[in-house]
Amino acid sequence: MAVRIDNRAEALPRLPLWAAIFVLLACATMLALSGWREWTSRSADLKTAEVDMANLARSLTQHAEDTVELADAILIGLASRLETNGTDPAAIARVQSFLDLRKPTLGRIRGLFVYDEAGRWLATTEKVPLAGLNNSDRAYFQHHRQSDDQRPHLGQPVKSRSGGQWIITVSRRLNHPDGTFAGVVLATIDAAYFSQFYSRFDLGPNGAVTLLSANGILLARSPDDGTYVGRDMSRTPLLKERTTRPFASIYYFKSPLDGVRRLSAYRFSERYPLLLLATEAQEDVLAPWRQGALIRTAIVLTLTAVIGAIGLYLVRQLFARQRLAAALAATEADFCLLAEESSDMVMRIGFDECILYASPSTTRVLGWDPEQLVGTPALAGVNQEDLPRVEQTVASLKRGDIEETKIIYRTRHREKTEIWIETALRATRTPVTGMVDGVVAISRDMTAHKDLEDKLAALAALDGLTGLANRRSFDERLEQEWARAAREGTPLSLLMIDIDHFKKYNDRYGHPAGDSCLRTVAGILAAHARRPADLAARYGGEELALLLPTADFEGCEQVGARLLEALRDAQIPHALNPPSELVMASMGGASAWPDPAASKGCISLVEAADRALYFAKEAGRDRLVMSGQVMRWPHTKRA
Ligand code: GH3
Ligand code: MG
Ligand code: MG
Repeated sequence: MAVRIDNRAEALPRLPLWAAIFVLLACATMLALSGWREWTSRSADLKTAEVDMANLARSLTQHAEDTVELADAILIGLASRLETNGTDPAAIARVQSFLDLRKPTLGRIRGLFVYDEAGRWLATTEKVPLAGLNNSDRAYFQHHRQSDDQRPHLGQPVKSRSGGQWIITVSRRLNHPDGTFAGVVLATIDAAYFSQFYSRFDLGPNGAVTLLSANGILLARSPDDGTYVGRDMSRTPLLKERTTRPFASIYYFKSPLDGVRRLSAYRFSERYPLLLLATEAQEDVLAPWRQGALIRTAIVLTLTAVIGAIGLYLVRQLFARQRLAAALAATEADFCLLAEESSDMVMRIGFDECILYASPSTTRVLGWDPEQLVGTPALAGVNQEDLPRVEQTVASLKRGDIEETKIIYRTRHREKTEIWIETALRATRTPVTGMVDGVVAISRDMTAHKDLEDKLAALAALDGLTGLANRRSFDERLEQEWARAAREGTPLSLLMIDIDHFKKYNDRYGHPAGDSCLRTVAGILAAHARRPADLAARYGGEELALLLPTADFEGCEQVGARLLEALRDAQIPHALNPPSELVMASMGGASAWPDPAASKGCISLVEAADRALYFAKEAGRDRLVMSGQVMRWPHTKRA
């Protein structure tokens, strides 16, 4: 018989490991993908911010250039007029009236000024008395006086003499017709104009726009707390590395003031010595991304944790199942090994009572090969008389009422008619649910044993000398028949027989002859036990008994009479038994209708028969006396 072992578990020993790796890989991939996506989204946001900042720097540079250009355009007109018309009082008066006319439309230009070669004020848009005012100390004035450069000059920011606020100056040199220094024309722009303009752009709480002169003097800034304008920033890395840097670029730096990392776009003007710097804190740029990323990451992490937890739970289940399968396979292998080697017949029976497995010994015990029995009903061959008992046992095993038991029953053999089988049964349970899933049966042929047992039982019930039932089995049968008669309402009769003067027979013919005589009498008695239920027994010594179930008084009396007749007919000589000089016997008969309610049991029947026997002896032997004392019986012949 092939050993069937489920070895799928062995075929995939690394499955849980692979599953665990898969779960971990899936989780890692999810996290990596999410991380990568966030990083690219962050980079994209930064890139957009960089482009925005560069554009802002470009437009604000343009704006500063346009402002300076506007101032310069006015200065060019003014200078040309002065150089053409000269600076005599009449010409100055015309210039002043031109300035007064121009004043309301100056826009972003704060004021216009004309100074002579000594720095004295000649004309201005400001409403101040000019006498006594001199600007020859200003840097721009000295620059123009020393240099015949005809280009406009963008000066340092200065505090206005007329207004007191910070102003940015744009100036040009005035020449006499001979080319000598004739004075300066000046346009001023409020630093606050730029800072107010810049404040319209939202660069976050840490952002700033700064306008500097090319040599690093701060001209305007937004936001401005009033301390920035005029600061010398020429020592900052941006200006120190001016020559090596492109004229416009984006760069990141960490502010030494607050430690905040900033994204900056700068641009040097190509037309004027101006530098525009726009900065925004990287934190502020990335704030919207960070907020979204936090929520997305939290969702992804939660999802990953859930998937990971479920995955690992399933992996653990897989591990447990594999261990269970391996244990089952080992148990199954052990079971098959033991079953194959066993001289007993081993069967595994399913819950449907069909045979799942039969060991090789089946061939020897039942005559059928295991292959022929697998799949057939396990109880098919059981003897019909034993079947209910066997079915009941199997049912209680299946219900879980008992775990194991042993039963003896008869079953069909392939060749022999029937054999006795002793089977040890044990319920089997599924390892997962613990439910009964079948039965294991270990059986051995008990026929020889059973025959011997039957023989021994029969021998134990017989009397050795006469071959009749012995006293013990007589007592048992008497009790059984008494109970049956009581149950079924039938009569029960008993004859007690005692050989007359048997002592003398022994004395006269010898003990062996006595034994032989006893056997002959027993034979006659046995011949009168005609019905299957009748029992002839040796009650003790030369005293015999005949139990007659269902025989009533008359029946009993008839049997007794026939027995006496048969004894007489046997003609066994007994010289010392006058007058017949034959072996004869005295008999006491008793008959009863046992009553289950009566207190006295079968012993009363024996007593009655015994008493009748006594009276038979007393009355002269060789006769039958019937007892009428057990039950009130109207026709009883009284002893
Ligand atoms: P009674 O007519 O009064 O019955 O006289 P009895 O001699 O038959 O009665 P008793 O009870 O005095 O003696 C029974 C005798 O039966 C005694 C014994 O020697 C004899 N006996 C009992 N069992 C056996 C036996 O197995 N074999 C032989 N040979 N004799 C036996
Ligand atoms: Mg006797
Ligand atoms: Mg006797």
